Amino acid sequence: MESSPVSNRFTSPDRSKFGLWYHPLYTDGIHPEARFPRDRYQLLLDRLNASDVQQRITLHRPEPIGRDLLLLAHDADYVDRFLAGELTDKEEKRIGLTPWTPSMIQRTRVLMSGAVEATEHVLKHGGVAGNMAGGTHHAHRNFGSGYCVFNDLAVCARHALEHLGVERVAVVDLDVHQGDGTATILANEPRACTISVHCSTNFPFRKSVSDHDLPVAPGSGDEVYLDTVREALDICTAFKPDLILYQAGVDGLEADALGKLNVSREGMRQRNHLVFEAAGDVPLVVFMGGGYAKPIDASLDSFFDLFSDAATWNRID
Ligand SMILES: [Zn+2]
Repeated sequence: MESSPVSNRFTSPDRSKFGLWYHPLYTDGIHPEARFPRDRYQLLLDRLNASDVQQRITLHRPEPIGRDLLLLAHDADYVDRFLAGELTDKEEKRIGLTPWTPSMIQRTRVLMSGAVEATEHVLKHGGVAGNMAGGTHHAHRNFGSGYCVFNDLAVCARHALEHLGVERVAVVDLDVHQGDGTATILANEPRACTISVHCSTNFPFRKSVSDHDLPVAPGSGDEVYLDTVREALDICTAFKPDLILYQAGVDGLEADALGKLNVSREGMRQRNHLVFEAAGDVPLVVFMGGGYAKPIDASLDSFFDLFSDAATWNRID
């Protein structure tokens, strides 16, 4: 029994398909008049289904997350008030996604569980799995912010450490916005390494301190961005994680309305390949993250690349 449990996980037949978690509430739980581009989830699913890549994907429907898992990263008062529909107007506004629908609570619960179930899946089978939503890195312990209610990265990191036998987890956050909530929640957790590559002048304007922050100047294109990503991945590899949580936001694209970076579609694709390559045999979970191009097509192109390339990377025959 000297081999690590991780290395035994890769012979599973489940590796022939990429596990992707999805729920119709990802789109339907957001009000049609909300500023957030809610259609991106449904549109991306349609595109994946219309392409050959769907043969390499197994779609899973998450069950709503339980309160106990949320408490791994959040204060009970905040969790209970959200689940009871009792957040104040100010708290809801800080999260955004307003006006809230009656399904907002259930949407949040299935979205969080999609990440948790994908994490459990990769730790059992190895390879790559993903949640087609989330990457809710702006949620803090006792408040939500920037389209994020609860922090799926922090909940999954703590769940993996507390319950799934993981000893070291790395959070690689390549969304154009800093992973401020994740950094704060996991600040006193030496078994978790938080790494954030983000635009230096973008939201959140008051940055938290990650274990490693790698800010990129506004207007930077592929070369600077990819060099910085390589640096981030070297840090990740040196940490020797046995689980990697990848916040794969594509809002660094030139076409993004909120991004302020000038990364091309091809550059974004190279970025993902660098992450897959650096992960090697370490189980990897893809969290969707931000993407706000107007129209949404450029974001969808890059999300399509992300999940179809993850499906290719995951495959063993
Ligand atoms: Zn973002």
